[in-house]
Amino acid sequence: MFDYLIVGAGYAGSVLAERLASQLDKRVLIVDRRNHIGGNAYDCYNDDGILIHKYGPHIFHTNSQEVFEYLGRFTEWRPYEHRVEASVDGQLVPIPINLDTINKLYGLKLTAFELEEFFKKVAVHVEHVKTSEDVVISKVGQELYEKFFKNYTKKQWGLDPSELDASVAARVPARTNRDNRYFTDTYQAMPLLGYTRMFERMLAHPNIKIMLQTDYRELEGLVPYKEMIYTGPVDEFFDYTYGKLPYRSLEFKHETHNSPVFQPAPVVNYPNEQLYTRITEFKYLTGQEHPKTSIVYEFPKGDGDPYYPVPRPENQEMYKKYKALADAMSGVHFVGRLATYRYYNMDQVVAQALTVFKKIAGEREEAHTRQAKVDSDTLQLAHSFAMAHKLRTNGHSTQIHRAS
Ligand SMILES: Cc1cc2nc3c(=O)[nH]c(=O)nc-3n(C[C@H](O)[C@H](O)[C@H](O)COP(=O)(O)OP(=O)(O)OC[C@H]3O[C@@H](n4cnc5c(N)ncnc54)[C@H](O)[C@@H]3O)c2cc1C
Repeated sequence: MFDYLIVGAGYAGSVLAERLASQLDKRVLIVDRRNHIGGNAYDCYNDDGILIHKYGPHIFHTNSQEVFEYLGRFTEWRPYEHRVEASVDGQLVPIPINLDTINKLYGLKLTAFELEEFFKKVAVHVEHVKTSEDVVISKVGQELYEKFFKNYTKKQWGLDPSELDASVAARVPARTNRDNRYFTDTYQAMPLLGYTRMFERMLAHPNIKIMLQTDYRELEGLVPYKEMIYTGPVDEFFDYTYGKLPYRSLEFKHETHNSPVFQPAPVVNYPNEQLYTRITEFKYLTGQEHPKTSIVYEFPKGDGDPYYPVPRPENQEMYKKYKALADAMSGVHFVGRLATYRYYNMDQVVAQALTVFKKIAGEREEAHTRQAKVDSDTLQLAHSFAMAHKLRTNGHSTQIHRAS
């Protein structure tokens, strides 16, 4: 009998497995339908011996000392500040837009003060900022919006920025100084030996068993457990009862080149002409020295693995219904970016998982009160899922081998 079945060995599942095993002495089975741990942050050495990120570049940055120190128990850090350039009008210029971007793009010699005036002059007055387009044009005006954001966003989301929530572009600042760091968080670093090694250390506790290439539904009736932590897609858990939550996906094209350097920056964005959105060169991120170099192209697409929840009001409405169902279920905790249908960075998922752990450890009463407040229809529907779930927990025990 396991105390917890954890579905998904990404950040959400792995942090909770580690906490439950090491702090509460719980017996945990963690399953993932992929053939590796680490979720989307998984990295590995390719055939040429270069460390690559299978699911696109993952750069760690956070303002949370708690998250940084927590992960620091499982890895040493390599200081790393990320930089991105954009290919616009045949030139590579820094992004986020800063003083150097504007001066290079227009052949000017503006000072920071003059750039502030420049932005004021080109900014479009928007009465109520609602969409991503509003956010950008009200900051940097129509022309820079079209050069840097419009087509990039269209490629990335399959939607015009005017159809996307303001929150999407709120992440893209414009600066009047020469700061060309992509992030400004207090802690910016990469795990010295890679993400997968960090996850291996996290899951090395003897109370944790790992099963890979296994969908948790395959274990129905076979593996008894008391509670579940679910980090997969929330709509899938409830058999798409209210419909499919839309996601944007990506196709990754990995290449290795027979030269030590491919491009002058860790990431180059291609807002306009190309079908891909960006190219990442991994050695900048990992600090690895190697006579060859590996890169990845990202091609956005509509179907495929669920990567980015599409931030539109109607999708949030659908998610709210699933959330009500999830809240009404006892014995299952929904954690992580797929289970809560939100784009979270790695540090935010770690913070969310640590919060859930604290709740599990100390605040069970509150969960009962919350359940009492849910309306009766939702409660009934949740109850039927809980019954199905309970049947799963009554199955026979089976021998699980450690998989890593
Ligand atoms: C292209 C890309 C780039 C990113 N770059 C950054 C970055 O630079 N910095 C940053 O901070 N964040 C970045 N992120 C976000 C980061 O990947 C997420 O915050 C993090 O991986 C979320 O962890 P998670 O555990 O919630 O989900 P995941 O990592 O997706 O893990 C969920 C796991 O659950 C498994 N699963 C699902 N359903 C089932 C099932 N039925 N049975 C068994 N297993 C199941 C999946 O296989 C998956 O491994 C990026 C994301 C993407 C897509």
